[in-house]
Amino acid sequence: MTRMGTVVLDFDSTLVPCESLELALARTPGVDAADLRLVDDLTRRAMDGELPFDESLAAILAIASPTRASLAALGEELARDLTDGASDVVTWLHATGHDAWIVSGAFREVLLPPARALGIDAARTCGVSGRWSADGELLGLVCDGFEHSKVGGVRAAALRWSRPVVGVGDGATDLALREAGLVDEFVAYCEHVRREPVAGAPRAIAAQSMGALWHVLEDLLA
Ligand SMILES: [Mg+2]
Repeated sequence: MTRMGTVVLDFDSTLVPCESLELALARTPGVDAADLRLVDDLTRRAMDGELPFDESLAAILAIASPTRASLAALGEELARDLTDGASDVVTWLHATGHDAWIVSGAFREVLLPPARALGIDAARTCGVSGRWSADGELLGLVCDGFEHSKVGGVRAAALRWSRPVVGVGDGATDLALREAGLVDEFVAYCEHVRREPVAGAPRAIAAQSMGALWHVLEDLLA
């Protein structure tokens, strides 16, 4: 008999091939190549677990801030550039009675169009929320836990997840959900980037493609 479980999907470098904030800042006027190298390094260190997520995000936003409009436009673009097979996996999860959530360190403006394309509703799409001026300039971050970590942001929502809960992602922030006991199993998603501290963690199951992830989920949720 199939158990009705929950799959918690990372976004950047999992559901899409890129890091969305890096891409948004690469298109921001006044951001140069040196800035982008810094942003890339801060992102990598956070995802490898060398630097807390909140410190990385704060340091990145001190270099440059995306506008609300640029994030929304990027979200529409990424809705058409999902990882091959991602949509099939989510469709299969829903058809077999499982729940799919997106839990991301990206801005919600970026997440919502791809979530809609995947058939994941906004209430199951969790990420960083900005405080915006009337003309869409970033004033700061909403203090709802996500500005610190995925664990902090999703702890309350996780009480509603039906078990087993499987977390999927490429980064240390994803692995941390299992370490906090919020997910039962962890799949390291390695198609776009393989981070050794994550993929090589004890009991992490590596998946190299959405097809491979599908097979892993069939086993874990059977
Ligand atoms: Mg990621």
